[in-house]
Parts: sequence; structure tokens; C-alpha cells
Amino acid sequence: MPNVKITLDGTQYEVDSKKTIIEAAKENAVHIPHFCWHGKLSASGNCRICLVEVEKMPKLAIACMTQVADGMVVNTKNERVINAREAVMEFILINHPLDCPICDEAGECKLQDYAYKYSKGFSRFVENKVHKEKRVDIGPRVMFDAERCISCSRCIRFCDEIAGVHQLQFVNRGDRVTIETFPGESLDNPYSMNVVDICPVGALTNKDFRFKSRVWEMSFTDSICNGCARGCNIEIGVRNNEILRLNPRTNDDVNSAWMCDHGRLDTWKNVNDEHRFKSPKIRKDGQLVGVGWDEAIAKVASELKSFNKNEIAVLGSAFATNEDNYVFAKFAKEVLGTRNIDFVRHTEGVDDAVLIRADKTPNTSGAFAVGIVPQENGMGFEQIISAIKAGKIKALYCLEDDIATIPGVEEALSNLEFFVVHATNHSKTSEYADVVFAASSYAEKNGTITNFQHRVQRIRPAVTTLEQDRAMDNFEMSRWDKFAAHNDKWGKGPRRDARPSWKIVTSIAGVMGTKYKFNNADDVFNEICQKIEGFKGLSYLKVGKKGAALKQATVTV
Ligand code: SF4
Ligand code: SF4
Repeated sequence: MPNVKITLDGTQYEVDSKKTIIEAAKENAVHIPHFCWHGKLSASGNCRICLVEVEKMPKLAIACMTQVADGMVVNTKNERVINAREAVMEFILINHPLDCPICDEAGECKLQDYAYKYSKGFSRFVENKVHKEKRVDIGPRVMFDAERCISCSRCIRFCDEIAGVHQLQFVNRGDRVTIETFPGESLDNPYSMNVVDICPVGALTNKDFRFKSRVWEMSFTDSICNGCARGCNIEIGVRNNEILRLNPRTNDDVNSAWMCDHGRLDTWKNVNDEHRFKSPKIRKDGQLVGVGWDEAIAKVASELKSFNKNEIAVLGSAFATNEDNYVFAKFAKEVLGTRNIDFVRHTEGVDDAVLIRADKTPNTSGAFAVGIVPQENGMGFEQIISAIKAGKIKALYCLEDDIATIPGVEEALSNLEFFVVHATNHSKTSEYADVVFAASSYAEKNGTITNFQHRVQRIRPAVTTLEQDRAMDNFEMSRWDKFAAHNDKWGKGPRRDARPSWKIVTSIAGVMGTKYKFNNADDVFNEICQKIEGFKGLSYLKVGKKGAALKQATVTV
């Protein structure tokens, strides 16, 4: 692309000639305020807050729709520009209700921030404001407050350009303008809640999250959605050790700036759920009863030793991390000596043209890549189920998957002599287990998952378990730091006595006589990167916030 030289506030930059001033400024860390402009949508140029002075142009120009040109000299903060911005802010605020104390957006609102930064700090307007509907049920998952809307049209453009459905439109003119859906329709599409993120004010709110917390009371952790094989980059919002919402993080290689409503609403409530396993359980007199970790680990180690290796099968999981699956596969091969290793694929519907994938698990590619595959002459999932029914497989060890929901599997499970399950929540499968290990959920552990593009991405603990709390207590920290870590980041909410699956398996291997030197998830990942070709050269540092592609995409599932 041909480059041009432009001057922004006295500094010269070389930029792509196809860029607008606002894009060129953003690339070079020069902030030009904007409401209606959004980097992932077309420009509409209607809010006017991005007015800048371009030398030799008689009037101020809007930075979002003015293309750069060679030799262009732009001022983004001289007196003329500042006066224009203040005038635009005064105009936008004329009819705004200024109800920040009861507005969900307060604390993360562009209008609130800009009112401090770019307005005069007082209003000359003494007339009555125009009042509009404050609770418009605009869609099943989104609520609209017409008084707060600043008519930026981002939500309309999102529906048209990204979701591909023309569901919103402006109606009326002047200070009566508002957004509406077409008669008889509602804002209802698989991506509808992204409009809440991009609305620069609190006009569109998330029905599931609204009024649950002020944003400054929450902590935010970068993670990955586990709702399908896309692996959208997300931020987990937590208060008092409970997840309250998910928001998308921008990653142009994976999900742009969006996520689907299913991922946003349906993939994390099990983490807060009261039906979590809060400790390991062993079946005694037909009932699952809570026991300590040592007892459960010793029980599994001694039971597994009592079976011939050909009588044992293991099922890894496309819901578990690369680290969990890697240690599990290693244990199955090196300690149990079984060749019957596989995992279940979960597909539903079709891939759509935006983000949603038919594969409803986050780590099918990863489970396969780290060795959850039938070994030579070993059995795959369907054969394992048939062999259980025929009495040939007597012990099954299953990681983080509700396999009993698959037709025909329940019947097989009741035929097992010994069944071990790792599970976060009570499930149909756990009802058949002899031992259940309380597994950490994706929001409680470190690790990586590999999406359908063979991109390795990091998950991080957003809520804490009892084990992490204890580690914190043993850690050399000042009392104040401990207080801050416990109360500010995670709060005082419920803790579960759960552990990551790789760690549980490492403990069982240890009791069975094979010591693995894995103290944390990084150790496991480092071994994966040494032993598995596609991962070579990677590390948690290299995977970073945006993920890294596997070196060779030889991994086909
Ligand atoms: S509802 Fe929000 S995103 Fe939509 S036009 Fe109004 S201010 Fe813009
Ligand atoms: S598309 Fe898939 S990964 Fe992305 S938010 Fe939806 S369910 Fe989650």
C-alpha cells in the first residue's frame, strides 16, 4: 500500500494512504474522541465529536470520514478544535437525562468520560429536557432507554453489517429521533447483545447483567469462551468470587470484536451454580459421599491397579485444556498401559458465517493434538461403549464430559465395575460414578485450549478455589496484600475445593509409583512444547493475550 506523510499535532507520521485521519491517529496513539465511529463498522459521521483542524481546509473536518493525504497537517487539540468539541458535548448533553447514579453504564461510559474530559463542565440549558421512554423492551436479551440514546447509529450499523439482519432503524427527526425495531419485530439475533458493548452510553443494557453490580466493584480477567470451537476472546467480570458477565475482547484473528449471545449467557452459569462438586466424592453404600483428596486419590490408584490394562479405557475431553488432556494421555499410556484412549465430539447445527461453530466444544483440536487418540489396536469411543456392554472393558476413567447424555451410553455405564469421573457440576454421568473428582472449571485454572483454526489460546483463573486461597495464605505476602488479593480481586464469595484435572491425574500417577514433575500448568505446557512438534517454540509468554497458531497445522480432526 502506498504510504503518505502526515503531521499530527506537530509530529510527522508515515501512514497508509487509504486510512482516515482517525484511523491514522489511532495507529500512532493519538486519541481523537469519537462516539459514532467504531473501527469494525462503516463510518457514519453523525456525532461530530471527532472534529479536527486540517490546514488549508476552511472548516473543521470530521476525522472519521476524512482520508489522509500526503503533506496533510492536522491539529487535534488546538483552541479551535477544543471549542468545537465543547460545543458538540453541550449539544449532545442538552437532552441527556444525566442519570449516571442509576445507569448501568456508569464507570465505563464514553459520554461520562468525555463529559469530564471534553466539555465545559456546566450547562447553559435552562429549558425542560425532552423526555422519552426509559424502559423499552427492544429484544429478549436487551433493554433500551430512549432518553440516554445519543443517536450514534452504531447499533443499527452492527445489525446491518455484522449480524446481517436489518432489525433497527431511526424514526422521527430532530430532538424526537429514536431507534425502533420494525413493527412486530424485536432485536433478536444470535449476536444481539454486542450492541450493548458498542453503545457508547447506557441506552442499551444487558437484561441478564443490569443492576447486578457497579463495574468498579468487579475484577476483569482475560480468558476464552468455551461455548464452541471458535474460542472467542473474552473478559470475565467477577464480583465476590462469582461471575456476573462476559464481554468480548478484540482479536482480529479469531472473533474481531464480537461474541454470540449463547457464549455470553449460557457458558458460565455452571461456575456459580450451587450444584458444583465442592470436594471429591466416593460411592459408599450406594451414595456419593464427600471425602478428602488423599482418600479419593488412594482409592482410584488401588482400584485401577486391580484391572488388567486391556480392561481399562479412558476418555479425555474436548472441554478440558491441552494441559489436562496431555497429562491424562501420558498417564493412560505410561501408567495404566491402556491403548483404549479417545474423547467425544459434540457437534450441533452448522457453522454460521459470523462466528458460531457446529463443534460445541472449545478444544477438539487440542485434545487430538496432545494425544487423546486411540493407540495402535486400541478402541475408539463407540468401540469402548460396545466393549463395556460386552463386559470386556470393566473400568472407565472419564475427564470433564457428560457422556451419559449420549444415546446408549447410560446402559453401558451401569455395566462398569469401576468408573471414575472428573466433573465440575453434578451431571447424569456423575450419577454412575464410583469416584468423582471435583474439577476446576475453565474460570478457575490456568491453561490453554486450541480452537478450530489450530490457534492456541490462554485461559486464566477469574475466580478462586479453596486450593488457590490456601496457596495464597502460604505465600510470603504482607497482610495488606493478602487482604487486597482476597477481598478486592475475588471478594468473599463461595469457594470450591476443586483442582485442575492435570493436577489430580499427576497425584494419582504419583501414588501409583510414577512421579511427574508438574507443579503448575506452565510446567505441563512447557513439556507439551518440547514433546509435540506443532507446539514447539511456544510458551505461555508467546501465547500471550491473543494466542498463537500451532506451527504446523497437521492436526486434523
Ligand atoms: S442506542 Fe446506543 S448505539 Fe444505538 S444509536 Fe443510541 S446511543 Fe447509539
Ligand atoms: S461463537 Fe462460540 S466461542 Fe464465540 S462466543 Fe459464541 S459460543 Fe463462545
